Formats: sequence, C-alpha cells, structure tokens
Amino acid sequence: MPLPLSDPSLLRRQCLIDGDWRDAQGGATFPVDNPASGETLARVADGGALEAGAAIAAARAALPGWRALTARERARLLRRWYELVLANQEDLARLMTLEQGKPLTEARGEIAYGAAYIDWFAEEARRVYGDIIPTTAPDRRLLVTRQPVGVVAAITPWNFPMAMLARKLAPALAVGCTVVAKPAAETPLSALALAELAQRAGMPPGVLNLVVGTDASAIGGVLTASRDVAKLSFTGSTAVGRQLLAACANTVKRVSMELGGNAPLLVFDDADLDLAVDGAMAAKFRNAGQTCICANRILVQRGIHDHFVARLRERIAALRVGDGLAEGTLIGPLINQRAVAKVADLVGDALAGGARLLESGTAPGGPGFFHAPTLLTGVSPGMRIFREEIFGPVAAITPFSDEAQALALANDTDAGLAAYFYTADLGRIWRVSEGLDYGMVGVNETAISSEVIPFGGMKASGMGREGSRHGVDDYLEIKHICLGIGPSPDN
Ligand code: ADP
Repeated sequence: MPLPLSDPSLLRRQCLIDGDWRDAQGGATFPVDNPASGETLARVADGGALEAGAAIAAARAALPGWRALTARERARLLRRWYELVLANQEDLARLMTLEQGKPLTEARGEIAYGAAYIDWFAEEARRVYGDIIPTTAPDRRLLVTRQPVGVVAAITPWNFPMAMLARKLAPALAVGCTVVAKPAAETPLSALALAELAQRAGMPPGVLNLVVGTDASAIGGVLTASRDVAKLSFTGSTAVGRQLLAACANTVKRVSMELGGNAPLLVFDDADLDLAVDGAMAAKFRNAGQTCICANRILVQRGIHDHFVARLRERIAALRVGDGLAEGTLIGPLINQRAVAKVADLVGDALAGGARLLESGTAPGGPGFFHAPTLLTGVSPGMRIFREEIFGPVAAITPFSDEAQALALANDTDAGLAAYFYTADLGRIWRVSEGLDYGMVGVNETAISSEVIPFGGMKASGMGREGSRHGVDDYLEIKHICLGIGPSPDN
C-alpha cells in the first residue's frame, strides 16, 4: 500500500554512503512496522559492519573539504536544509506517526523542534571564537582556536526519531565535522527522509552518511573500534551507553551520552493546583510516556495529595487512545509488544507491592501495541516502577511530608536528567532548584526543552549538552598555538 505522502520520494529505503543510496550487502532488508496496526510500512536495507566501514571511509575522505569551508558557507547549506525540512513538515510528520506511533500533532511539533536545531547551529557555528591570552614572555604570543573534532558517529533512539538526530547532526556539521549516523531500526524512515532533504540542500558526498540496519552491535562495534572516528554521540538506554563507553575506551574517543532519566515531579502543598495538574499531564503523557524526561515519579505533599490525585484522575480518564493519525488521539501506541509487556510488568510489580490502581483507561483492542493510561497511588521507593524508567502512560504517585523528604526521594536515583517541581514559595524555589541533582529543572513549568537551552544530564544520565551556545563544544577540540616571534629588533 503506498504511504499517504504528498512527496513519495521522501520515502528512502537504503543506506546513504558517500552521497549514494546503497542497498545492503547481499540485498538484505528488514521490515519497518506501524505500531498502531502491526502492518509493514516498508522494507529497508539491512546495513551492517560492511556499510558502517564504507560510511566511515566516506566521512574520512570528505572531512578536509568540509572543514575547509567557511562557517558561513556551511551555515548557508544548513539553512537551506532547515527550510526544506519545514517545507516538508507535513509529510515528515506523517511518516513519523506511521513508524513511531505518536499523535500527528506531536509529530508536527517534533519536526519543528528538530528543525530549530539546524537553524540554531547554522548561526552558532559562525561564532566559534578563539582567544588571545596575555603573553607570559615578550617573544611569544599565545593563541587558542577551536577546531572540529573530525569524523563523528551518531547513534539515536526511536522515541524522537527526527529531533534526536537533528540535535547531533546540526552542531557536528555546522562546525565542520563529517558524520556517520545510525538511527534506531524501529524508526529509520524519519532519519532517511531527513538525510534525503540534506542531499537536496546540497550536502557534498560523504559529509553525512546514514547506516540503517538491525544488527546494532555490529554497526556500533565498527563505529567504536575505528581510529578514524574521533567522537561518538549517543542517545539511548543507560545499559547500551555503558557498553559503548567501554568500547570507546580503546581508541580514547570523545563521547557525549544522553542516557536514561527517572524524572521526579514534586508538587508542594502551596502549588497552584491547575498549573501542577496541567504540568503533570504534559510531562507524563507526551509520546505515550516514552521520553527520557517524562515525569517518572510524581511526588505529592500530603496536604494537597488527594485534591491533586482526584484532578489527575479525571484528566487521565478523558485521554483518548488510538492510532496517531486519527483525529483527536492524545495517546498513541507504544513502540512494540515488548514495550507493552514491560509496562504491564512494572504495574504488576507495583500492585503486588501494595500500590493502588485508581484509574485504568481504555486501550483499543485488536492489532497495535497499546497500553491504557493508568494512575497508581501509594508507590514507594522499593518498587521497580520508582527505580526504572516506565516509558509508558502510567502516572505513579508517591506521597511525601516535607521539603527535606521530597529532595531526598527525588535524588534517590542514579539518573539525573530532568526534574520538575511546583510551589509558590520563592525561598523554596531557590532551595529545591539548587538541591536537585539534575541537569535540567522545570519550576512551575514542564515544557523545558528547546534549541536555545543546554539539554543533558548529570550522574548516570550521561555527559555533554545538546542545544544552546554550549552545544557546539561537544564537537570541537580546543587547540593552543604558542607563536614564537623572536626577540624585538631593538634589543
Ligand atoms: P531503547 O531502549 O530506547 O531502544 P537502546 O539503547 O536500545 O534504547 O537504543 C538506542 C540506539 O542504540 C538505537 O539506535 C539502537 O539500535 C542502538 N543500539 C542498541 N544496542 C547497541 C549496541 N550494542 N551498539 C551500538 N548501538 C546499539
């Protein structure tokens, strides 16, 4: 069945290597399925170690020419790419909903959000300034420049298949690096369409290469072992991140890791209830709960607990679950059956441990990987659902008594990506903001991410920052140049 795209040529099915769309060795392919129906949307080249090696060679060969361009020349190309992405927003959003499942309005939002990184870094790369340091000796001048690290490998997940990729490609390419990217096998079509638009914008051969395939460890093995790859930027699970960090040790690669979160959302007694409920709904249920900054633990002070829970329950009961392309859908399917089973397992463990099931909305029957939006109360720190990323539409509520206990509970995790809290007390806003061991803190607000802010985590949530003026740093090396100018002719 043809996909409902106004430009069908955005549907690419092959690896992009050295400017050519290539089949995998032996013509191997794999299916990309629609999680709302289980139907196969397309078969895509199943690239592996061989394609990864060819892509690295192409990126290596393209590096000298690309980094020799002026930042302005690269910025012009990125700006054309950005405009093409926006011009094709509707098709890109449909493709994303089809392969990933999120509601179409969210998919449109992700295209705009991802595109904004391309625009932003096209501009930021023109401001990669160096320093001149006051000299320590009259016959020397001390300079600092910042140079592209070289060939970058980017490995991205399926939950934001366009934005997670754009967030790495844009700064890397803008500062003069070349890239080999490996998107998740669940959602390669969004990544391939993004690369197709880069080609149309005039990306020179080899500057951006994309290897799609199901054997992630074979592709990852080649990328991490290669001495030609200077840097790995990864977004995904903490478990895979740990493996990749270890694999990068041999060649001492630069690494950026955006790993799992376990975001707390604290609601204090003095919070604005409407604001807190709105914030909790947005932070919990975006992308059916499949984001690394989703409110994984909702901690509510005892005085406001019952009011908050009652309001949240009404809102959850009203959520419409279904195919992301259908009008009015607020919660789409999860990515696959394994994800549904894992969420059900976490809910089962919590109930067995004494949590209460307050609301269990309805999920469509029939095909598709749906989980009903669910509200649990009485969740305690010993339960798996408190410690693991839920990655599903389950709101898990834990009561707390005072600020000290709230902070202790919030920080009782290895993760440190995002945290949120609701309060009207100015002193508490400062104390809690400073006390949370998280890279990003939302105060009376959960819409925290955009291209202008540094996205990233502390502790086991990883290292490096994406977006903001700091986002270029992950793709630059600092070089000191000590310039000997000889003695003064007057001496
Ligand atoms: P998720 O749980 O979100 O699927 P993963 O960490 O499994 O998170 O996947 C994120 C990305 O990492 C995907 O592109 C996936 O294919 C890739 N990946 C998974 N395992 C490996 C591995 N051993 N080496 C390299 N990449 C991997």
